[in-house]
Amino acid sequence: MKAIILLGAPGAGKGTLAEGVRSATGYIHVSTGDMLRAAIKGGTPTGLEAKAWMDKGELVPDDVILRLVSERLAQGQATDQYMFDGFPRTLEQARRLDDTLGRLGGHVDQVFLLEVPTPVIVSRLSGRRICKSCGAVYHVTNIPPTVEGVCDHCGGPLYQRPDDSEATVLNRLDVYLRQTASLIEFYDTKGLLVRINAGTTPQDATAELLSKLA
Ligand code: AMP
Repeated sequence: MKAIILLGAPGAGKGTLAEGVRSATGYIHVSTGDMLRAAIKGGTPTGLEAKAWMDKGELVPDDVILRLVSERLAQGQATDQYMFDGFPRTLEQARRLDDTLGRLGGHVDQVFLLEVPTPVIVSRLSGRRICKSCGAVYHVTNIPPTVEGVCDHCGGPLYQRPDDSEATVLNRLDVYLRQTASLIEFYDTKGLLVRINAGTTPQDATAELLSKLA
């Protein structure tokens, strides 16, 4: 079992890069944010517990996250290659991921740190708009729709995700600095950290990551 990790602030482009890497390789994309949003949509007890934290931009408790990830890995095969996006987010999660992978005969192979200047992150997140009908993603200046507030694909109305409002974006960045940024040193000390310039285009960042994938 192989595992790589995409590490970076919210808005660094982890989800977008993961999609590029997944389609170019055999890695299985595991996003804890996507798993939590699916749990909320499905109305499960985990979803109900997670929603209050997510709406505030706070982290969901480690035990909830570890349970989701362990259940996901237990369904896999020994030969699987996993790409974690948005996980781990705390030192406790990182240590317990090592234990879980170890029990399954695997380990973390590489950790890609997506580096983006903070002003770019704030602009990416606070300018993001999503189509209410089809989910297409826009940005008020970087990827504007032809007609303001209207989806090019389906004509649906565009809206701003509640956790993309400026106050919540600033809290999410603060949470990243306080709780997640220490993972940079944790993985650098182990010799696993690989830095990627993710302040460019998704195409350039994906190409850089693929060229550094062992
Ligand atoms: P994301 O889609 O990765 O930006 O995650 C959205 C939200 O889900 C975060 O702001 C957290 O509230 C929660 N979340 C996702 N992954 C984790 C994690 N590994 N640990 C704690 N909370 C998480």
